[in-house]
Order: sequence, then structure tokens, then C-alpha cells
Amino acid sequence: MFKFEFFPFDFNFFSSFLYSSYHFIFYIFSFLWGAVWGSFGGTIIYRSKEGISILSPSSFCPKCKNPIAWKHKIPILSYIALRGRCVYCGGKISPIYFILEFLSGVLAVSCVFFSGSFIEFLVNFLFFWGLLTGAISDIFYMAVPLPAILFSTFASFASIFFPNRNILDVFGGIIFAAGTLFAIKFLYKIVRKKEGLGEGDIISMIPVGAFLGFFGSIYVFIISSFLGGLVAFVLSLLGLKGKDDPLPFVPFIFVGTLMTFLILRFT
Ligand SMILES: [Zn+2]
Repeated sequence: MFKFEFFPFDFNFFSSFLYSSYHFIFYIFSFLWGAVWGSFGGTIIYRSKEGISILSPSSFCPKCKNPIAWKHKIPILSYIALRGRCVYCGGKISPIYFILEFLSGVLAVSCVFFSGSFIEFLVNFLFFWGLLTGAISDIFYMAVPLPAILFSTFASFASIFFPNRNILDVFGGIIFAAGTLFAIKFLYKIVRKKEGLGEGDIISMIPVGAFLGFFGSIYVFIISSFLGGLVAFVLSLLGLKGKDDPLPFVPFIFVGTLMTFLILRFT
């Protein structure tokens, strides 16, 4: 269990007011940091879908192709100020940006709570941010952008250096997590003669397995399958989903991973 020790020096001589406002500013900064990554995640989703490089050119409107000025690229605020429309042509800006910027901001603040050092914060945040980006993309497009999962994978391998981790658990987790989904996909195809799980679901499980290890991956598998099954059942009861309509699975992997992370932390 880690103790939250972001402050390298003793604050005892500060007044409590200064101390709490320091906290407040610190959380604001964390939220902004997350929101900037969320904006990048929105770009990754859009560009992966369109097959454009995520590095160049700089942001442009998908409709009129005009480059977007820096003042119209401020996470969350720009979307609200422009009411989700392009400043030149009035074309609709995808709500994915706003949703991902807000959720990534919340994620960053949450990661501050659950990390004991700046390095640990970075690893936790990038791991969950990549997975969150994959989940949002899966909901909107039934596709998982590979660059986002690569960020998660790098972060999950960096977690090897945390206390209580070892290389055996990392690879055991990967083999169980990705292997189980691969086996299910394979069997499903033989029995039902159609695709039940996508490649995106399987590659998303690689960082999850590496990050949470063997037993953690078992939890994720149980929780995400249960939640996915439950939501599929409720949606078909409500008539919102046909028997053969696919359901994005990465959002359930994300929730299952978050829940497992918290369970392992607090038990
Ligand atoms: Zn435009």
C-alpha cells in the first residue's frame, strides 16, 4: 500500500489555508493535464479511424479542412464556447472530444489519489487513459485505436518496476488475459460460425494482463463478462439491441480493470 507523498518537503510551517489551496491548485492542474491527454485521445480516435498520422498535420476541421487555432483547441472550454461547432464552417465537432477530455481530467485527479509518487502517477494515468480512449472509440465506432493501446502497454510494462511486481506475473497476466479472449473468439467462430469478439478486445487485454497480473486478470475477465452480459440482457429487454447486434466490449474491460485495480488496492 502506498502513501500519498507528492510533497517533497514538510508543510507544517504553512498555514492550513495555504496548504489546502495548494491542494486545490494541484488538483486543478491534474485535471487540466488529464483534459489535454483527453484531447489527444480524441485526435487518436479520429485519425486512426481515417488512417491519418497522429503526429502531423496539426488539427484541422474534418469538414472544411481549415486548421484549428490554438485558442479553439483548449480542452473542454473550447467545445462549450463554440457549442460543439467549427468556427469557420459551423460543422459539428465530435462530442468524443468533450467526453474524453472531461473523463480524462477526472481520471487524472483520481490517479493522484491512488499513486504514491509522480512516476507511479504517470504509469497509472497513461495505462488507464489508453484503455479509456479505446473504450470510448469502441462505443462510437466499434473500433479500438492501436496507438492508444500502445500507450497502455508501455505503461503496463513500466509497472514491472513497482514493488510487489515480478516479470512472471506480468507475462502470466498477459497469457491468461489475452489468451482467454483469443480462445473464446476461436471457439465462438467454430460453434456459431461468426465473429463474437474483435481483435480490439484481445489487444486491449494485453496491457490489462501486464498491469494487473495473473489473478487480477481473472477478476477483470469475470467482472467484464458479467457486466457485458448484464448490459446486453437489459438492452435486448428494452428492445434497443437485436440478438445478433454486436456490443462493444472494451468499455466493460475498462470498468472491470478499474474495479479490479481498486479491489486489489483495498483488500
Ligand atoms: Zn469547419
